[in-house]
Amino acid sequence: MSGEETRTGVRHPFPEPERGETVEIAEGVLWTRIGLPSRLDHVNVYLFDEGDAWTVVDTGLRHKLCLEAWAKLEEGPLRGKGVARVIATHHHSDHVGLVGKFIKEHGAEFWTTRTAWLNARMLQLDHQETHPPEMLAHWTRGGVPAELVEKFVADGPFNTSAATWRLPLGYRRIVEGEEIAMGGRRWTVRMGDGHAPEHATFWSLDDNLVVVGDQAIPGISSNLGVYPTEPDADPVGEWLESCEKLLAHAREDHLALPGHKGVYTGLPTRFRQLIANHHGAIKRLRAHLAEPRTASECFVPLFGREIPPAVYRLALNEALGHLNHMRRSGEAVREAREDGAWLWRLAR
Ligand SMILES: [Zn+2]
Ligand SMILES: [Zn+2]
Repeated sequence: MSGEETRTGVRHPFPEPERGETVEIAEGVLWTRIGLPSRLDHVNVYLFDEGDAWTVVDTGLRHKLCLEAWAKLEEGPLRGKGVARVIATHHHSDHVGLVGKFIKEHGAEFWTTRTAWLNARMLQLDHQETHPPEMLAHWTRGGVPAELVEKFVADGPFNTSAATWRLPLGYRRIVEGEEIAMGGRRWTVRMGDGHAPEHATFWSLDDNLVVVGDQAIPGISSNLGVYPTEPDADPVGEWLESCEKLLAHAREDHLALPGHKGVYTGLPTRFRQLIANHHGAIKRLRAHLAEPRTASECFVPLFGREIPPAVYRLALNEALGHLNHMRRSGEAVREAREDGAWLWRLAR
């Protein structure tokens, strides 16, 4: 937690759970941590007591670390009760990676949004031996240096199928504005967008809980990426619109349950910070684009630092997100350089 957050009202009233341990954050609601083999080293999972079974919100990856944590949970805090339902906030592998396991081993129902379902299933089935030409074109347009492209090609593609348990056909769709029951409470479903399309959040009608997932993480900003599947996407615009929409429902006394980092209060503050962060980034880019630049030449003004290879592609996708947003709003234009890289500059 940063000092800035403390001053502006984001607070963490509960201690963080150890991997495979739980913290009770409200009656019948347990918060646990599942380890991830990445820089962001965990994902939060929430367990809702349904009396004779559990509802699980988000699951972790199909990875040894996650499976070990779940084995520990099943022996301990789950107390021999099965998982009757798994709900995924969005389609990213760290959230849906073990849904298939609960369906297979517990006979659990799977509830999520239609877009999350379609994306999760598509990515799982879309197995690549090598990077497709659209990915190489994406890096060319982004101005990625040749030696880095060589490294990415040598590393080979990431396949979702390797990090997720196979999803069987069929799910239960949740929609915007729907009321669902979970953990002895009624919840309104509200959708977010920008980090993942049709990302579900859940707002309790009976107490102060809000499951926000990756739509409002404290301390870190969610990646707003452009991918070769939709090169002209405007995730930053979609994110800002979602933050404004959800901010209208947020209260200071809400306890926000995020996909990563700590459970917190101060949700209106957090939405305002997230909005301000991206407005600030666009302001810095505006100054930077007085001269034509490639997306990969925008990292320092955007992120305040050079970006190492391990997170370079995330940074590139997010830089393109901001540039596409400026192009949509008519602030920036782009043209192809001789080598195929897009050069971005302020529209005159
Ligand atoms: Zn995510
Ligand atoms: Zn996440």
